[in-house]
Amino acid sequence: MKFIKKLTSLALIGALSLSLFSVSFANEKIVIAHRGASGYLPEHSMACKSMAYAMGVDYIEQDVVMTKDDQLVVLHDHYLDRVTNVASIFPDRKREDGRYYAIDFTLDEIKSLEMTEGFVVEDGKTVANYKKRFPIWQSDFKAHTLEEEIEMIQGLNKSMNKNVGIYVEIKAPWFHRHENKDISKKTLEVFKKYGYTTKDSKAYLQCFDPNELIRINDELLKEYDMDVKLVQLMAETSWNETMVYENDEAKPYDYDWMFKEDGMDKVANYADGVGPWKPMIIKDDSTKDNLIITNLVKDAHKNKLEVHPYTFRNDEGRIPTYCDDFNGLLDAFYNKADVDGVFTDYPDLAVKFLNQNK
Ligand code: CA
Repeated sequence: MKFIKKLTSLALIGALSLSLFSVSFANEKIVIAHRGASGYLPEHSMACKSMAYAMGVDYIEQDVVMTKDDQLVVLHDHYLDRVTNVASIFPDRKREDGRYYAIDFTLDEIKSLEMTEGFVVEDGKTVANYKKRFPIWQSDFKAHTLEEEIEMIQGLNKSMNKNVGIYVEIKAPWFHRHENKDISKKTLEVFKKYGYTTKDSKAYLQCFDPNELIRINDELLKEYDMDVKLVQLMAETSWNETMVYENDEAKPYDYDWMFKEDGMDKVANYADGVGPWKPMIIKDDSTKDNLIITNLVKDAHKNKLEVHPYTFRNDEGRIPTYCDDFNGLLDAFYNKADVDGVFTDYPDLAVKFLNQNK
């Protein structure tokens, strides 16, 4: 009898510590290097990714678009003109809208371009988007494929005995489909090739397009006999981030349902997390004394969705007036709004913040 009692109490302690463990595990906050350590080096360059890795992040983000020869290249835009010298190397290859589309170029052609910090063209001159970041056109950076980046991260995981994850965004699937390319299938094939095949894999797959995520969840993952964590990025309809083709006319996807009371409940049918824009969680008209926190995180957590808002930038003019500095911004989101992770251009600062607030 005594023995059984002891066993029961041991089992109880076991169950208790297990549940404590799972609670603390679920609350583990993460840092996602947004396009790498992009506050310091040109976004999506390999150098920018290895720097992020060395900063101790949990995940490194890759945005992917497709090339003419069906390669997945790591670029934020499906255009090349914001971050490369494509306009001077291939001046005749722009489309009617004046943009140079990655999908019109082979991987070799894209790799022949100089990649740099984001810029705009003013009076015929290139001007950096961020005045205090890495200087434009300095040093030598090139675009690379998703596979090349995964191989570098997995190589570092081996040499540093760590397990940093990938956080891949499928860019504009509606556009790729209209160009007869299936970017989702291509991306899942790469996930599978490199062993990211279960929800426990150190990987997230994110997309702004709900229709595409539903397709991935309902059809493609089954077809490829795999399962990975899916994240629904959230946009406002007016941004034209996701378009839907009706005949040959592209119309903006209507995101309004996502912000209704049962929005997170619906997203939870096909995704494991959401990536909202910061003001969807803490309203911009908040003040230092009065943070206006929406129900989004609560609703998401109620539906077991992780919440990873974007984008945390320690640049001039990028700190909302409701906090004093970048640490204050991180505190508002990680601690007051209780998000599970953040996408940041300054991952070192977020890693430091979390370490100090453990
Ligand atoms: Ca992204």
